[in-house]
Parts: sequence; structure tokens; C-alpha cells
Amino acid sequence: MTTIGILGGGQLARMMALAGAPLGLRFSVMDTSAEACAGQFAPLVVGDYRDRATLEEFASGIDIATFDFENVPAGSAEWLSRRVPLFPDPRALGTSQDRLAEKTLLGELGIPVPGYVAVDTPAGLEAAIARLGTPCILKTRRLGYDGKGQFRIRAAADAAAAWEALGAQAAAGGLILEAFVPFERELSVVAVRGRDGEFRTWPLTENWHVDGVLSASLAPARVSPGLEARAVGHARALAEALEYVGVFALELFCLDGGLLANELAPRVHNSGHWTIEGAETSQFGNHLRAVLGLPLGATRALGRACMLNWIGEMPDPVAVLAEPGGHWHDYGKTPRAGRKVGHATLRADDDEALAAALERVGAALGREAQVAPVVARLRE
Ligand code: ATP
Ligand code: MG
Ligand code: MG
Repeated sequence: MTTIGILGGGQLARMMALAGAPLGLRFSVMDTSAEACAGQFAPLVVGDYRDRATLEEFASGIDIATFDFENVPAGSAEWLSRRVPLFPDPRALGTSQDRLAEKTLLGELGIPVPGYVAVDTPAGLEAAIARLGTPCILKTRRLGYDGKGQFRIRAAADAAAAWEALGAQAAAGGLILEAFVPFERELSVVAVRGRDGEFRTWPLTENWHVDGVLSASLAPARVSPGLEARAVGHARALAEALEYVGVFALELFCLDGGLLANELAPRVHNSGHWTIEGAETSQFGNHLRAVLGLPLGATRALGRACMLNWIGEMPDPVAVLAEPGGHWHDYGKTPRAGRKVGHATLRADDDEALAAALERVGAALGREAQVAPVVARLRE
């Protein structure tokens, strides 16, 4: 009986444990919170990731390790990787934990990225704004997620407010200014690479964010085969450069038929949740297969799927469950503003059936605005 250890016990670890049950796997999760929602399905070791005694306790009960968030302290991941096999390799963590290192690697691989400048001082910020123009976005290089640690700069006069908001982070982990991309669409490639180097991607996903947080995903995205091939090529180049093992997502902006890479998430990804019901093999199932060195499952889509994130609190499930292709995921978390507490996936055999289901669910839950852009895309 193999026990998989997961650093981080949030909903991604929870869905990984659920996907691992049919494979006969056991899980152990480590988290800083005793309330971590994966703890409802797997033994939970609680403590700081930097605490050696806690890490020791965690390591002693597992055969192989992975993680469910990219901000695992690099030193802890390296320590753990000397005790048990850890996938993906901590090198992928190191790169994706720092937006500057990430963009540098993307550039080296010939993957286009938005204009960017590292920022250390208020004067440096002003110079960077002058160079990139407005609008632009100041971001912390490290530890950001769900749009946290970002400040949107509309005009040069916003520089002082931006520094006020994030300047303290300049010394801690650094800042980066990025050109604002007036994208037509946001897309993501969810990909998996096995221990033997086998590489697969799920069909491209189109994503809609609200206030920097993912709101809805549609898959397969309606894009040309040429665009899809370019996106997959970028993901493959990254996976091979990092000798990556497991699932990751590459977030992309689409503008004028071109692609700009936003960021790499070295883990299963929110934009891949639709694969649980909408693909032959889910991202969670394939991540486990990859880290265990098992054959990867097929990634083809089963019709069309739309995932809706529930942020802050769970809606009533009845409208979704009443749909023939409706699937409900409650993460068992305490409601809190801005928190991802669950999601629903609607699956259908064609565009119109999915659009109609989304309209029914949107109306029943008072979430017309959340489903509207997806419905519009399906009816284009
Ligand atoms: P995640 O939860 O995906 O890790 P994050 O905090 O790392 O989020 P980003 O992915 O950098 O943040 O940004 C969140 C969202 O903000 C993006 O998906 C996009 O909608 C918007 N955004 C970020 N950077 C830019 C940019 N340079 N131009 C336009 N929009 C942007
Ligand atoms: Mg991110
Ligand atoms: Mg992102």
C-alpha cells in the first residue's frame, strides 16, 4: 500500500486524495492549519513547513511526496526530496515562486511574455512606468495568488499609491512591473508529463477572472488548431526544460491571434477542475499516475464542460444537481469572503445544450453575470 504525502492540505490535495482512492492509494497531508479541508479525507500533520520536527513526522509516514501549492518553502521541499521521492522536482518550484525567474525562463525558451521590469525602489518604479507605459500592474515577485499582491496602475500618478501598497515587499521578495495586456481571451494549457517523459495536454481551457480570481472555465476552448498547437508547444518546451513530472498549468493571454504567457502553476490547477467529469482522465488522476510512474490516462474531453467557481459561500446545490450534466463539489470549508469554497461543473454533448444549462443555473442561483460570458462564447 503506497502512501502519498501532500504538502498543503487545501481543496487541490482533497481532490487528489479523492482521485487516488480507486487506485488503492493512501494519503497524508501537511498543512499549517488544523482546519485544512483535505484533512477530512486523509491524516493531517499540522505545523510550519520550515519546522524540521513536523517535516520529519510527515516524512516518516509517506512513500512519495508532492504538493498542492507553489509557495512551499524551497528549503523544505529540498529537505523532503532527500528523504522520499518528491515530484515535481523542487527546481520547478524555485522557478515558479519568483515571477522574475519565471519570466526569464519563458523568455529563454522563446515563449513571448508581457513587457516587464524588476522594481526595487520608488524611483525604479517611476522609471519602469515610464518605460512600459500605462496601464500596467505592479506585482510582488513572490507569494501572490488569486490576484493578491497586485496593484493596477492606470496613470503615472498612481505610482505613489502603488508603492504605498506594495513597497514593503520590495525588500522582502522583490517587485515586478508588468505591462497590462488588453487580452481578448485568457487561456490555459493543463498538461502532464510522466516520469518517462511522456507528455500530454487536455484540450485548451478558456478562463474568466473577476478581481483576479478565476470565476469560470470553458473546455474545450473554441480556438483554431494553429493556436492550440502553439500553446501546447510552449507547455511542452517548459515541461522538458524543467524535466517536469506531474500536472502543471500554463496561463496565457490571447491578443491579436498571438499568445503571451502569464504564469506557470507547478501543480494541479483550478482551470483543470472540469477534467474530473469532462475528460477521460482527470488532472488529479493523471498527476498521481505521473508521480507514481504509472501509464498516463487519455486526456480527451467528453463533450463540453463549464466549471463555475463558488467564492465566499456555497450556493444551494439543487439547480445544479437537477441538470443531467450537473456536478457539485463542496470543499467542506468555512465560508469567508474571497475564499474558494467549492465549484460546479456542467457537462453537455454540444454547445447549445451547455449554454441552456448554464442559463438555467445562472437564473436559479442569481448568478447571471457569472455565466453570461461563457454563454456568449458558446453562442458566437
Ligand atoms: P493565480 O491564482 O492564478 O495564481 P496570481 O495571483 O498569481 O493568480 P496572476 O495570474 O498574475 O495572479 O493574475 C491574476 C489575473 O489578473 C490574471 O488571470 C488576469 O486576469 C489578470 N492579470 C494579471 N496580469 C495581467 C497583465 N499583465 N495584463 C492583464 N491582466 C492581467
Ligand atoms: Mg499565480
Ligand atoms: Mg494566475
